[in-house]
Amino acid sequence: MGGELRYMEERPVDDPREPAKGIEQAKDLLRSFETRAKRRRRPLYGIGVSFPGAVDPRTGDCLLWAESGWKRFPLARSLMEAMDIPVLLEEDVRAEALGEFWFGEGQGVDSLVLLKLARGVGAGVVLEQRPYRGVNGLAGEVGHITVDPYGDRCSCGRVGCLETKVSVPAVLRKARELLKKNPDSPLAREELSLESIYRAAREGEKVAREVLEQLVAFTKVALEIVVHAYDPDIIVLSGAVVEAEGADILLNNVQLGDFPVEVRVDVRVSSFGKHRGIIGAAASVLHRLIVDPQAIEG
Ligand SMILES: [Zn+2]
Repeated sequence: MGGELRYMEERPVDDPREPAKGIEQAKDLLRSFETRAKRRRRPLYGIGVSFPGAVDPRTGDCLLWAESGWKRFPLARSLMEAMDIPVLLEEDVRAEALGEFWFGEGQGVDSLVLLKLARGVGAGVVLEQRPYRGVNGLAGEVGHITVDPYGDRCSCGRVGCLETKVSVPAVLRKARELLKKNPDSPLAREELSLESIYRAAREGEKVAREVLEQLVAFTKVALEIVVHAYDPDIIVLSGAVVEAEGADILLNNVQLGDFPVEVRVDVRVSSFGKHRGIIGAAASVLHRLIVDPQAIEG
């Protein structure tokens, strides 16, 4: 159990807005996995689901997946109809945090926070070797902490959340705003992306430098929030903002410091790449089987 990927299969979902249809397709895939595992005499211990919406990990219900219009839905129970083994449903950043804890940058530590800067911003928290969710399941929702009460409207409906400063859409929006005022910028002539912004910033281009400056400042704020809230051994960064080509210009410029006491915290970038969801889902099964078996329903 070293966290290596043994076999992978991807299938497109016909219509992500229809949970029942998607589940039928997922069940088909699970049955084919089961057949394959039986043929190779490999035991299957559980099914991990790294889910991009809000979940109740105790019941395995999806509570809300706003992007695809899912409301409450018994996701784990539906998947168990395909295979009679435990189904563990975990929110994606929490699954990723467990993936890092078991197989990645956080092996051997007691506490870890996975801070994801992608389309959205959020954190998965592992404290004293257990995932920490909080009373209302809100622990780690650092992307929706207000950092600018006079700022932009966030996807959650509030104003000036951290997500409006350090997510991919936020960075691109800031660049577009500045390009309107600087239409002659060389950046205006290429397709705007994180990569093009980082490259232009490295070349000293003015608009890109300004975008980078804000991103550096708020990435530092994000890390400081995590340190002040959870004080972990290690913070693992993931997501396109820190993993895009050229992102080292961001990471090299974020200097943590100015804490009231001396702070020892390791900041690293995840090395899982696009497999982070799969590794995280597998780690959440392993974690419950070994550390928290009573948390498994069914
Ligand atoms: Zn928000």
